[in-house]
Amino acid sequence: AKMQGRNNYQFFTTEMNHQASQRLHIETELRKAIKNNEFELFYQPQFDLKNNQLVGCEALIRWQHPEQGLVSPDAFIPLSEETGLIIQVGRWVLQQACMQGAKWISLSQTMVTMSVNVSVRQFRPELVDEVRSALMESGLPPRALVIEITESTLMHDEEATLVLLQELKNIGVQLSLDDFGTGYSSMAYLKRFNLDQLKIDRAFISDLPNDKDDAAITSAIIDVAHHFGLVTVAEGVETPEQVAFLANVGCVEGQGFLYEKPIPVGVFEEKYFA
Ligand code: C2E
Ligand code: CA
Ligand code: CA
Ligand code: CA
Repeated sequence: AKMQGRNNYQFFTTEMNHQASQRLHIETELRKAIKNNEFELFYQPQFDLKNNQLVGCEALIRWQHPEQGLVSPDAFIPLSEETGLIIQVGRWVLQQACMQGAKWISLSQTMVTMSVNVSVRQFRPELVDEVRSALMESGLPPRALVIEITESTLMHDEEATLVLLQELKNIGVQLSLDDFGTGYSSMAYLKRFNLDQLKIDRAFISDLPNDKDDAAITSAIIDVAHHFGLVTVAEGVETPEQVAFLANVGCVEGQGFLYEKPIPVGVFEEKYFA
């Protein structure tokens, strides 16, 4: 599926660069996809690094294209953002993920969290109502919803961003800073914004524990995050050695291929909530 995703990416981008009409074509395809319900959410579990308990999952979108097959988000999220279609797509993701989260909490009787990626384009005043409706319609407890934003979201128009973040906090959802460390002036954001979780970018994890620079950066990030009371999550955990290192420097949660790839809803349910 991953390979297929890459091919699609190439197919889309090269054609796109050559012709504006091709771009328009994809945009039309995306509109059709929304109308025909061609999107699907995969879920990747997150674990407590110390005891290996399931603590939550991240919803990751896929496009079941009638001819192309499974298309990965990197191949269509950027264009969805440029065209504004991400608003509709993102609303669907929120609703769908909240429904699933509510179902899983009732099945397991444990407070597993549901993390949802929210792009900078969605980060506007209407988002507050979209989140509120998704929670109400699904019955998902607000604390169980984790909204993942990136540093690029925090970079924009600081006052308005602060207000929006506060309104989301008032609803009771958790806020997570995704891909941490890849942007800049990251540390200042931790002081300025009232966040709940920090996800350390895979770039710092992949060469652990041998790369001394990445080891230093990772443990520094973890220390600072804990100073601000954030839960730390390591992304892209692929080896037991990484888990050992991360647990040793106090990282709380992990997510990655070592545990599980993103999987379809049915598979997730069978494995974790049967
Ligand atoms: P992300 O939010 O950083 O999501 C993590 C990505 O890393 C996922 O790729 C996941 O499959 C991959 N991954 C997880 N564990 C490992 C690992 O151990 N090794 C490696 N090599 N990769 C791992 P995916 O699903 O292709 O998603 C790519 C990006 O697309 C996401 O990055 C996110 O930025 C975006 N995206 C996905 N779903 C949504 C969505 O519903 N809305 C928005 N706005 N963006 C989304
Ligand atoms: Ca994410
Ligand atoms: Ca990430
Ligand atoms: Ca990323």
